[in-house]
Amino acid sequence: MLELLEQLDVLEKSANLSASIRDVQNAIDVLSAARDKIAADPQTAPLTLAKLQDPVKRSLEQAQKDIKPIYSGLNKYGKALDKKFKDKPIPPASNDALSSHPQLVNRAISMHLLREGEFSVASTFIQEAHRHPPRPEPTASTPNPSMNDSWEADLAEESFNSEKLQEQFQDMYLILHDLRQERNLKPAIRWARERSDLLEARGSNLEFELCRLQFVCLFVGQKLDADDDEPMEEDPQGPLAAYEYARREFGHFRGRYANEIQQLIGAMAYWQNVEDSPYRRYFYNSTAWEEVATSFTREFCSLLGLSADSPLYIAATAGAIALPHLLKLQNIMEKTRTEWTTQNELPVEIPLPPTYHFHSIFVCPVSKEQSTDANPPMMMPCGHVIAQESLDRISKGTRFKCPYCPMESHPRDARKVRL
Ligand SMILES: [Zn+2]
Repeated sequence: MLELLEQLDVLEKSANLSASIRDVQNAIDVLSAARDKIAADPQTAPLTLAKLQDPVKRSLEQAQKDIKPIYSGLNKYGKALDKKFKDKPIPPASNDALSSHPQLVNRAISMHLLREGEFSVASTFIQEAHRHPPRPEPTASTPNPSMNDSWEADLAEESFNSEKLQEQFQDMYLILHDLRQERNLKPAIRWARERSDLLEARGSNLEFELCRLQFVCLFVGQKLDADDDEPMEEDPQGPLAAYEYARREFGHFRGRYANEIQQLIGAMAYWQNVEDSPYRRYFYNSTAWEEVATSFTREFCSLLGLSADSPLYIAATAGAIALPHLLKLQNIMEKTRTEWTTQNELPVEIPLPPTYHFHSIFVCPVSKEQSTDANPPMMMPCGHVIAQESLDRISKGTRFKCPYCPMESHPRDARKVRL
């Protein structure tokens, strides 16, 4: 991979078109100067044209010469690519789990485009998918894909009639644009305030984070109602305006964020040199805007019942990380003539980065089965957790001893664990 990066660096630094463009521009400049001269005084035409020959020739020759490193750079990059990806076949379709569910794959793609803000691409994709409905192909696990559950079709249909979803994501991008580009917090604050109860039920700090940043903006002299077209003026009354804002808006935060508010108000004492004060980190935090934007995206998606990152992106990235391991496994299986039988479980561990650990799986230590909605993990008063079915089997509805410690309890004391 290092070699690829080096070659890419060469392409960007030296083997680019900037020198050739300069040469061609030189030639154009010389030619247009000559044209102007002739237009002003046609008498000079023969002499001007004669004088033109040499410089134009030189410029074009230089352009030819400057283009050579580009060819050689591209050539070398191509070779480095070939070398890196030589003999790396993609796995055969024997474990294909997707061909029988093309509608779900299309749904994942359209959802991804929508949530990335690519609205016109998404709507073209959806139209084309409607015009040419995909045909499910039989696979090992789904030999008869036409029997696919109707929920699958419903799900796909629902996301394809996605105008509502699109509107919602458009709102999200408008607010994000205001945050990132315009440094305007008001639309985001309004959005958070309208959903204050929902956000609070999720334990979200978004509304307060936004209002705190608004306080900071006022404090360092940004006017609250500054016209977007006017250059940002420093407001010498900044700290006072911030104090007014805090008095007006922070009231309902007092319960949950008493400490944070105290800190902000404490900073008022340093209003002349807050940069050298212990409160500096609140006021000079270059990532603050990006942080609230990320936090806003996460909350927005979760209120729509979606994860903050696109599942398609996560699946593709995790797949790219897993692929080399699966290829290796396949080689070993071919050599030892063994077979991988469980379709829904990977036979090897894939080293995914920590952000890709979702902790959503519980395997019952008694039955060795994964928990489901119908068979959820249950915690006994001793703190040990087993699946509901195991609990029912062991307890038979009466007091029983935990399989992992001496403590006894009644099944009604066990509590459902949510992951
Ligand atoms: Zn126990």
